[in-house]
Amino acid sequence: MNTLEHLTLSVIALSIKILSKNKLLIMNYHRVHNSQDLFFDSDLDGDSFNWQMQLISQYLIPSGLSDAMQKLDNEKLPGGSVVITFDDGYKDNIEAALPILQSNNIVATFFVATHFLNGGIMWNDVIIESIKQCDKDVINLQGIGLGEYPLGSKEEKLYAIEQTIKHVKYKNLEQRETALDVIKQTCAVELPNDLMMNDSEVVALFEAGMEIGGHTNKHPILLSETDELVTEEISLGKEYLEKLLNTSLTSFAFPNGKSKLDYQDKHIKILEKIGFKYALTTNWGVNIKGEDPLELKRFTPWDNTKIGFLLRILKLHLFYK
Ligand SMILES: [Zn+2]
Repeated sequence: MNTLEHLTLSVIALSIKILSKNKLLIMNYHRVHNSQDLFFDSDLDGDSFNWQMQLISQYLIPSGLSDAMQKLDNEKLPGGSVVITFDDGYKDNIEAALPILQSNNIVATFFVATHFLNGGIMWNDVIIESIKQCDKDVINLQGIGLGEYPLGSKEEKLYAIEQTIKHVKYKNLEQRETALDVIKQTCAVELPNDLMMNDSEVVALFEAGMEIGGHTNKHPILLSETDELVTEEISLGKEYLEKLLNTSLTSFAFPNGKSKLDYQDKHIKILEKIGFKYALTTNWGVNIKGEDPLELKRFTPWDNTKIGFLLRILKLHLFYK
């Protein structure tokens, strides 16, 4: 890094620190891909995650979620504090992300959807992998209420994936399962069974000092389900992880996580009843004392350059609450 870049980053970081005392930024990641198999342009690979974590550890103040929330409550949170989180429970979290987090002394929180551990596959990956590997020229998805999609090029496959995910996302678990069966039958490809962590990898993350949180069992959109099923899904995931880790879970991340679209106030009450202390959404913003700890905001400043990355954090502290 040259001196001018270092100086610029230092000035931006100082501005962030001044602006963000007792304001907590929580970042949200899902996967850290191997650079060889990037399929979407927006996919994050190890090199990018590495420079982002180096940047945070060099210029800002990384903190574990529990520690940061306690400091926020006591009005002792230093400016520039950042919490790193991962949703879903992908295997690359331990293989690619953990070594990078450890070398930068960062304690991250991993929210795990328990049903997919040990060889399972998330619904979105069934769609992505089926269409990605499909060797047909055209795929007919009329069986799930969509049309026919040409699959001749990568662009066409990306479009078919995008449309199918959009169509399936807000179905309830039962309808989602039916739609996935049609897609699996239509494409008839061998789906990977090694995308998600297994039990011992979750234990290893925890033993490495990382925090683990709940993310339901089957990752339903809470608003698409009955209250009974929501309660069961959240409890199942919590109990599974508590038994596995021999600890009590304090934090949860809403599947998909957008207020009014994916969850509403009644779900916050359910979380409180089940015994969670913190719940993380994907609503944009930073967190301040006095706001509901069961509806924390997150923000991930995606950018290709270090300066751009820090500037996005600065902009968040300037313009959003
Ligand atoms: Zn998720």
